[in-house]
Amino acid sequence: MLSHSTSYSRRDFLRLTGAAATAAATGPALIQGTSGQITVDEISTGQRPQQSPDISVVNPRGRVPLSFIIDDSTCLVNMGHFCMPQFANAFPTRDAYKKPWRDWPREIPDDFVREFADWCDSRGVRGKYSVVPYPACVGWVDRFLPGWSQQDLENSLKLVRERMLPHWDIHPEMISHTRVLDLSTGRPFSEVNLHTMENSHPHHPVSVDYLTDYISRALQVLHNVDLPCDGFTTPGGFGNRVKDQLSLGGMRAVREVFNVEVPHYFKYLELDPERSTLPRIEHVSGLGTDDVRCMVNIIAGTGDWFGGWDGVSAGDIDESADRFITGDGSTGRMVEMIRRQEPAIMLCHWPGIFCNGERTGFRIFQKAVDRLNQHYSGLTQWMKLTDIARYYAAAELTSIRLRKTSAGEHTIDLDAPFHAPDFTMRIPLPLASGARPAIAGRPPMAAVESYSELRENSFLRLGGRIESALVCLNLPKGRTTIQVGRPQGA
Ligand SMILES: [Zn+2]
Repeated sequence: MLSHSTSYSRRDFLRLTGAAATAAATGPALIQGTSGQITVDEISTGQRPQQSPDISVVNPRGRVPLSFIIDDSTCLVNMGHFCMPQFANAFPTRDAYKKPWRDWPREIPDDFVREFADWCDSRGVRGKYSVVPYPACVGWVDRFLPGWSQQDLENSLKLVRERMLPHWDIHPEMISHTRVLDLSTGRPFSEVNLHTMENSHPHHPVSVDYLTDYISRALQVLHNVDLPCDGFTTPGGFGNRVKDQLSLGGMRAVREVFNVEVPHYFKYLELDPERSTLPRIEHVSGLGTDDVRCMVNIIAGTGDWFGGWDGVSAGDIDESADRFITGDGSTGRMVEMIRRQEPAIMLCHWPGIFCNGERTGFRIFQKAVDRLNQHYSGLTQWMKLTDIARYYAAAELTSIRLRKTSAGEHTIDLDAPFHAPDFTMRIPLPLASGARPAIAGRPPMAAVESYSELRENSFLRLGGRIESALVCLNLPKGRTTIQVGRPQGA
């Protein structure tokens, strides 16, 4: 079990955050997002291991993961400009699609990608960056993009490989993000309606095999240009009617095309402060064997309060940044999630960061990131989605057994389906004073005095009625035993 709003998290949070936490524990009325909350309870979770109720896995190194999800990015093509007329065509009655797209640039330049990557590197930001494989049916990123030279496309792909890939997961966002491809012909269907737009596809029940094929096609294009993917993003409502099959078919596709051990996907937002933003570990099978399979459903916790998918929907810079985190660090949706000690993941759309050259969304983002780093750097860490997926899959799927020996020592047996760096658990300590945890056969772990010092192979003693500690280790795949007792020879 992962520890959510236990007395531990709240007490330790208050102890650790100092000034920031002395501000009101609950903020003012919460912002309701623009996107509806989508329940994911209908997706099969599959197997779970035995885990001792006395031990809880907490966040990596006790720090809340932060991440930034970028949707609707690709090479060069401004998806705002090219999607708008196609959406207007498919949904002629919706006013939201009657916007002057002809006035908007057709390109989001690589110089802006470079500027964005430089700035994020300087602040340690990590996240996910989409590369739509057949962006708005303009061209294929593994073939050519009409309107740009072959050299332009190759330079753009090289930029993503060299500057984004190290710190960002790369995802396809289905194939075109506009028209559905007929997989038998490779062409968009001739009709244009709800059924044939990826954002609302499929409109009828489909098989898991169909979804595996469809998602594999998207992944394969990025494979062709050496952009490895551990997951994918759904465009809008793709898969809404087949959520369980989408998770399973997506898992198979990512495993088949990229041979990924812990695949993940992004589709859902959770804006309700009362509900968890922990990743969901779905379709788990093979526990106790060498072939454990699962799909990790990564949940974003904010709306797009930057410039929107069209790039013309940005609000006031200060007010928008405040929705994530206020200048004094006391309130905002990101602060809520940090206080819950659950992953705090922001969502944007790339055209809404560029804002047709005005960069309004980028400025909102910069303000929010600088505030997060200023107020919460010691309590959080920026992570890619794939690292978040691996950590929480290991947290939920590692079997954890606690044995108490007559000599007053504790032994903790772990059986992990996946390797997980920075694996951190809260464990009870035996009464014997001076008890120190040690991985069997190795010297005791180093004692640290504060959260910020917690690192692999160290532990932090916690106060409280029952003496306990946080232990942090580089969890290997397979069996590990931790002994907690008097150090040998002490
Ligand atoms: Zn999208």
